[in-house]
Amino acid sequence: MGAGLSAVEQAIFSADRLGLFLDYDGTLAEFAPNPDVVLPDPQVIECVARLASLPAMKVTVLSGRRLDHIERLVPLPGVWLAGSYGLENRLPDGSRLHRLPIDSIRPMVEALKPRVQALLAGREGFYLEDKGWSLAVHARFARADEADSVLPAVRALFYSAAGDDLRILDSHRFIEIAPSLGDKGHSVEWLVEQQELEGFPLLYIGDDDKDEEAFRVINARGGRAILVAPQERPTAAHARLADPRQVLAWLDRLYRAFRDRSHRAAW
Ligand SMILES: [Mg+2]
Repeated sequence: MGAGLSAVEQAIFSADRLGLFLDYDGTLAEFAPNPDVVLPDPQVIECVARLASLPAMKVTVLSGRRLDHIERLVPLPGVWLAGSYGLENRLPDGSRLHRLPIDSIRPMVEALKPRVQALLAGREGFYLEDKGWSLAVHARFARADEADSVLPAVRALFYSAAGDDLRILDSHRFIEIAPSLGDKGHSVEWLVEQQELEGFPLLYIGDDDKDEEAFRVINARGGRAILVAPQERPTAAHARLADPRQVLAWLDRLYRAFRDRSHRAAW
């Protein structure tokens, strides 16, 4: 997608302002060994800080992680931090905004948690993550035969609990039950409104199927999307970068393009 990337650069590097949306895990940084490990990466922090310092740029980090993790990973004022797929937000001025009251979700999580724990009891390689707003089971390190028997049981349990206001996110060796509003597509719509980015050129960088939901919204608004993936695959994105290392290098190019132009404008 080299041609795709240069077309994105043509559209974005010459823009006079930009609404930039960044996923975290798999996009800015490699995946942690388990989702409760929070290891801030100074290179990522520096990269995002420089972008956020540009007056023409509004930066949002939108992640499936809990907000308190994202706040530790990207401890920067001036950046909009959206955790739990955009359900819980820390605004650039430090204030907080939840799209749903947490009390509307906790009873569901509390009721399901012991039932999931019972399904996982005595088995290795599974990880139950309570994100506050959602409940997720990771099975990346489980034995294949155990994953094949346990995940369908978890899935059946989640579907028995799910109604219109809950959704199930199901991908390879991962399943999560979360509020329906916790959809990166809906969240990007909401974030564009909240940050008054209508009419701004938009750019979104992300690596997984939850980001694809956002890519479609970004595209519908005339924006550009970049997929982070080591290989080509079907995507709504315009271009691809292979891994977080390439993303940081490319974001540095984006930063320089904007910085140099604002210098020229200032002179
Ligand atoms: Mg990701």
